Amino acid sequence: MRISVVVPVYNEETGLRQFFCTLHDVLRTLGSSWEVLFVDDGSADDSWVVIQQLASEHAEVKGIRLSRNFGHQMALTAGLEHVSADAVITMDADLQHPPELIPELVARWQQGFEVVNTVRTDAAEMRQFKRRTSALFYRLINKVSEVPIPAGAADFRLLSRQANQALLAMPERHRFLRGMVSWIGFSQTFIPYTARPRQHGESKYTLRKMMNLGADGLTSFSVAPLRLALLLGLISIVLAFLYAVYVLWVKIFTHNSEPGWTSIIGVSMFFGGVQLFTLGILGEYLGQLFGEIKRRPLYVIAQTAGSVEPSARKEII
Ligand code: UDP
Ligand code: MG
Repeated sequence: MRISVVVPVYNEETGLRQFFCTLHDVLRTLGSSWEVLFVDDGSADDSWVVIQQLASEHAEVKGIRLSRNFGHQMALTAGLEHVSADAVITMDADLQHPPELIPELVARWQQGFEVVNTVRTDAAEMRQFKRRTSALFYRLINKVSEVPIPAGAADFRLLSRQANQALLAMPERHRFLRGMVSWIGFSQTFIPYTARPRQHGESKYTLRKMMNLGADGLTSFSVAPLRLALLLGLISIVLAFLYAVYVLWVKIFTHNSEPGWTSIIGVSMFFGGVQLFTLGILGEYLGQLFGEIKRRPLYVIAQTAGSVEPSARKEII
């Protein structure tokens, strides 16, 4: 039995060594063989130097360095593609995901679960803003998404080899792993945990990165936004008809209509509606195409440290 831990790293040089020490203490007690794969997501600080040092000190430590900052979800994907263990655990490098939970993740996997998710329960330490926007986002996405995505779901989870392979067979560019993991199915379970305050540095999730992640989540698991255009078009066609009735009424039964007014208003409102409606249909097809043409590589590797496994993706596609 082998366990891999995949850790995305972006400008975490100050806390990385402490993170590894804590993780190391937990992994040693597991009684199975393990490895840690750090994915340096184009850090601007000396994170890669620390990773290289750790890799030279411990045979179990490996590293991949991406050629630029591709983002948390891509860094996770890169890591998941380069492990071949029986189970793979993904977690953040800032100790917000408590390594002490790992034995429990492994125990649940041994009970037969293919995916062991974690859900953040007590978020008291989180900034009010992040907590509110996160709660709102999950309420919205669960209304429209094709698969359930629990609020507070974290990218701290264990995947069996089979679940990981299913995940890697999904080629999309806009990756919202929380939704994708829910999509693959298998027997899944959830473990609650309390997020701790960040040990070093500050959050690398800028507002922009958070909004991008949210938009990817919404558009890759729902076509509801596209349908909105259809709905708007339909509503305006109905309104146009109602208004046409009104302008006709003004024309026929009163004397205060200008010549030409009735037809211009009626026709322009109707075609406004028709245009929105057809735009909505076009959008629907465009959305479908958009989902199909994502054929670029998801990330680019610049360097590796330790004996990193070859990518699993080629074998799958
Ligand atoms: N991270 C990354 N690339 C990015 C942003 C973040 O690899 O572009 C990593 C980061 O180093 C950390 C994890 O993803 O290990 C989660 O980021 P962070 O803790 O900043 O997010 P938060 O916990 O504030 O949501
Ligand atoms: Mg964090």
